[in-house]
Amino acid sequence: MRKALDVCSKYNAYLISLHFTLNPKGEKVFTLIYDLTESTAPIKEIAEEIEKIESISEVTLIEQQAEGFIADTASPIITAGGVRGIILRTHIWAILVNKIREKFGSGGEAILYYIGVDMGSEAAVEHKKMAEALGLREPDKITSILGASIFTSIGWGSMQIERFTLNPPYALITVYNNFECVIGPASEKPYSQLTRGLVAGYLSQLLGSEMQVNEIECLAKGDPCCRFECRATR
Ligand SMILES: [Zn+2]
Repeated sequence: MRKALDVCSKYNAYLISLHFTLNPKGEKVFTLIYDLTESTAPIKEIAEEIEKIESISEVTLIEQQAEGFIADTASPIITAGGVRGIILRTHIWAILVNKIREKFGSGGEAILYYIGVDMGSEAAVEHKKMAEALGLREPDKITSILGASIFTSIGWGSMQIERFTLNPPYALITVYNNFECVIGPASEKPYSQLTRGLVAGYLSQLLGSEMQVNEIECLAKGDPCCRFECRATR
């Protein structure tokens, strides 16, 4: 890769961004975005020279779609943990979350909650398998090391497990910058349904007993974070 970068700088190509990942075959894939305004050679010529480097098996060119605009159309499948994912930007996921509420009122809130429950339960099943491979057994460790870290790393919000007990089953979970409540209108009551369901489904699956989750602080109410209190259903 070093040699490829050297070729580009030799022709005055200005590196704007460099992204590295592995494809499903485990091969290294680098995506480089260059500003070629002051380049002394055409892009095809630079690509041909890079392709001659022994360690590089293939070069795919992504040309800008319009002056000043380029989208990476060469890596259309995004994966996380080996599974396909998609990226939704704020104004798009806001439609998804807010429209269900707007159209169906409290019924919509229930739909969001139960979608969250199934998502959380599915995540917990996957995390239990990962935990086994990592030698993690305690539910509090699985929740903080896998659940909270993954939730945070994929951009849903910054999750922290404040308290976790098994007897009685109880957890206090804080989410800063919760994606769901950031886009909610100012509200007098807690706004989260999807995340609340997600936490309930996750802990219920992990602990093997049904958990009830209440949002006791919420960004939409003007609190600094969303805080979820989780107890076993009586
Ligand atoms: Zn909230």
